[in-house]
Amino acid sequence: MLEKNILIAGLGLIGGSLARTIKSGHPNYHVAAYNRSQAPRDFAIQERIVDEVSDDFATLAVKADVIILNFPVQLSIQFLKILATLPLKENVLISDSGSTKLEIVTAAEEIFKDKAIRFIGGHPMAGSHKSGVIASDELLFENAYYILTTSTLSQPADVEELKEVLVNTRAKFIELTAKEHDAMTAVTSHFPHVVAASLVDNAHDFAAIMPFTENLAAGGFRDMTRIAESSPDMWTEILMSNSDHIVYQIDQFSHKLADVKQLILQRQSAEIWNFFDNARKLRAQMPIHKGAMENFYDLFISVPDKSDVIHEVLGYFAGHDLSIINIKINETRVEINGVLQITFKTEKDQTTAKRLILENSSYDVYQ
Ligand code: NAD
Repeated sequence: MLEKNILIAGLGLIGGSLARTIKSGHPNYHVAAYNRSQAPRDFAIQERIVDEVSDDFATLAVKADVIILNFPVQLSIQFLKILATLPLKENVLISDSGSTKLEIVTAAEEIFKDKAIRFIGGHPMAGSHKSGVIASDELLFENAYYILTTSTLSQPADVEELKEVLVNTRAKFIELTAKEHDAMTAVTSHFPHVVAASLVDNAHDFAAIMPFTENLAAGGFRDMTRIAESSPDMWTEILMSNSDHIVYQIDQFSHKLADVKQLILQRQSAEIWNFFDNARKLRAQMPIHKGAMENFYDLFISVPDKSDVIHEVLGYFAGHDLSIINIKINETRVEINGVLQITFKTEKDQTTAKRLILENSSYDVYQ
């Protein structure tokens, strides 16, 4: 296998996770990392995540065959402009990991239009509410979608080359135009974050009138607002970058809410029933349980409230080497199917665990 010099620019959660997976997939590659602050650089060297670190971007960039930028999108565009001024290797392959794609792809096409530089936008659709290299994880991208955006700066062979560099992410690579990416992620990710934050804000406002309200915020409210704890920096950046699509979704959703409001005011119970039934059927058909957006696989186990129950359930998994990433006792059974929630890294482990619990106990298990 050919050796390559890889530059991971930005050693945060995503940059650190990419560095780990590229290095472990290609031990013969030289993986260098640029980061402005020292602590992440020291951590990456100590943990052997990369072979070399520096705060001198230009020196690393001119040696690289592949450069992946892992900054907020506006900053990545600034780094593209710096790259355009450097004597880079001929045919260097540049990518990024930003959550929006049209802005950076358009900028890259303009910045590199007369240069022998290949650019492919990238978005690994896996993440965490944590940030920084300290939270980086070699398995972060496993089974997640990894979108690669086509542009005038790349050919199909370039996409294959980048996939080979990223092969150990074990992600599901999808090619989209930047426009398609931004339109679809506005619907499934960006706009839902706006709704989640608005729901929290709304409940908090109402608690000024009835203070006990927030204590009743369990079950459905909790599921719908978990993502409201995400990074405000990242989400402000995303709303600024994908404004048109997100505003369009807000308009569409406002119409839907207005329609429901009319059905309620007009006491149209049959129509309201159809509204919920339709959504229920549509959701059941969505590939939502397969970890399309997040590579988490939950099992909910309806266990009794007794002290050694976690120990008992984990005992069923002994010898099966299951990758558990979280165990949680839910504080309420309202609107959920079981108090013990175990989260697995892979669908295979989730399936095995479900089988083991059903074989060894009489607990109901839901996913
Ligand atoms: P992070 O906060 O963990 O890391 C951000 C990196 O940018 C750090 O290395 C930081 O040092 C660097 N940085 C920030 N400002 C800088 C500056 N002015 N100069 C130099 N370096 C600077 O963030 P992350 O989660 O790794 O996000 C990186 C990119 O990946 C973002 O574009 C984000 O939208 C995208 N992304 C994030 C997720 C997620 O869930 N976290 C998922 C997919 C894609």
